[in-house]
Amino acid sequence: PLDWQGKHVTVAGLGVSGIPAAKVLHGLGARVTVVNDGDDARAREQAAELEALGITVRLGDGATLPEGTELVVTAPGWKPDKPLFTAARAAGLEIWGDVELAWRLRGPDAAPWLAVTGTNGKTTTVQMLASILKAAGLRTAAVGNIGVSLLDAVLGDEEYDVLAVELSSYQLHWAPSLRAHSAAVLNLAPDHLDWHGSMEAYAADKGRIYQGNRVACVYNVAEKATEDLVREADVEEGCRAIGFTLGTPGSSQLGVVDGILVDRAFVENRQKNAQELAEVSDVNPPAPHNIANALAAAALARAFGVPAKAVRDGLRAFTPDAHRIAHVADVDGVAYVDDSKATNTHAAEASLAAYESIVWIAGGLAKGATFDELVAKSAKRLRGAVLIGADRALIREALARHAPEVPVVDLDRTDTGAMLAAVQEARRLATEGDTVLLAPACASMDMFANYNKRGDAFAEAVRELGAGA
Ligand code: ADP
Repeated sequence: PLDWQGKHVTVAGLGVSGIPAAKVLHGLGARVTVVNDGDDARAREQAAELEALGITVRLGDGATLPEGTELVVTAPGWKPDKPLFTAARAAGLEIWGDVELAWRLRGPDAAPWLAVTGTNGKTTTVQMLASILKAAGLRTAAVGNIGVSLLDAVLGDEEYDVLAVELSSYQLHWAPSLRAHSAAVLNLAPDHLDWHGSMEAYAADKGRIYQGNRVACVYNVAEKATEDLVREADVEEGCRAIGFTLGTPGSSQLGVVDGILVDRAFVENRQKNAQELAEVSDVNPPAPHNIANALAAAALARAFGVPAKAVRDGLRAFTPDAHRIAHVADVDGVAYVDDSKATNTHAAEASLAAYESIVWIAGGLAKGATFDELVAKSAKRLRGAVLIGADRALIREALARHAPEVPVVDLDRTDTGAMLAAVQEARRLATEGDTVLLAPACASMDMFANYNKRGDAFAEAVRELGAGA
């Protein structure tokens, strides 16, 4: 164990990871200084709370490295090119993120980690995995970039047999010594490139999740880039590369045969070359991208030795979080589906691929994305589109280029009634059997506090529509 007594640690960022990190390190005897860019009322309140414990806080100056710093612990979102880090690196100091801190403090001793990253599907997959592990009678929790923090999980009173860990690309960037039992990269699409600097740097940070894996590196057969990351990773001897595919699996793969999820990687009965795990209809919802999530979760659980039956039971017991392809209601033979969590084009592409005949509600903040590929791939499924939000012109132009025959309503409203108006327009465009799908492909903050509020507004509007029907 590390000797923290009197060690001078600088914590970068007052926030959901910085405050607990500062408290834990202070409790271990370290001399903690928290530095923070902001200096608003909230920051002052938080600072006062820490100062009362004897922790030093510097508000309004997150750039200068405090004199005598021996280690920097940073919030995951802080960009690597910040002056604070340049100074720390120049001084030869290590920089740890929240995950690295949890790992160094007690990671390997608390429980083995089954880790998941990817551009989309992380939360869903980790929750499916936790559900499967629970069905196998294991003490576990979904932790990391969701709900419970890793620090709480490894230092808390609860005992775990295994942890289902969601990791973002930022967290992985700052977690150089993390070694998972097994890990999965679900998919890789351009996202957060402003932070990482390039697609290569983003992929390399995601690929860190495989470093030092002991049992399995799980990759997506349909995305060669994920397999390449496995090949480049330095893993423990005997660690296997396990693929998942929506098609018929090869050896060392999990896949789908005649509507059944099958495992050809971890076969229990030597007489057979495949183990049946569950039916596609056991996956909620049984959309293609979500079956991929289920296969990735199953692969990690099987790598941990979970029996086939627990995979099925765990998948059946799983219900997705709100606003992820949630069926809200049927009104006049039209289904209304809320995928407000589709905040980027890669996610929206997955949900548009799950329905045949769609009136699409989209728009918001584009975050630098382009929509040509998404619209071109989805054009034949679109019966209409209703566009909302600040960057809707970008989507309108892509529709004009790749789906000129699709009727488009361009809704120039940002007031509280805008979502109801959008739903009413969508209803006008839809005919029986269609799906009205909120899959914005954009962030929500131009019109809503967050994607939850956007989805709630949609569901509320659908209810009003139903009441009036
Ligand atoms: P994350 O935690 O990575 O943001 P979520 O599980 O919360 O992922 O899903 C976010 C959105 O991404 C979903 O609403 C859905 O639109 C889309 N999605 C989920 N899984 C996948 C996948 N495997 N591939 C592509 N898109 C996906």
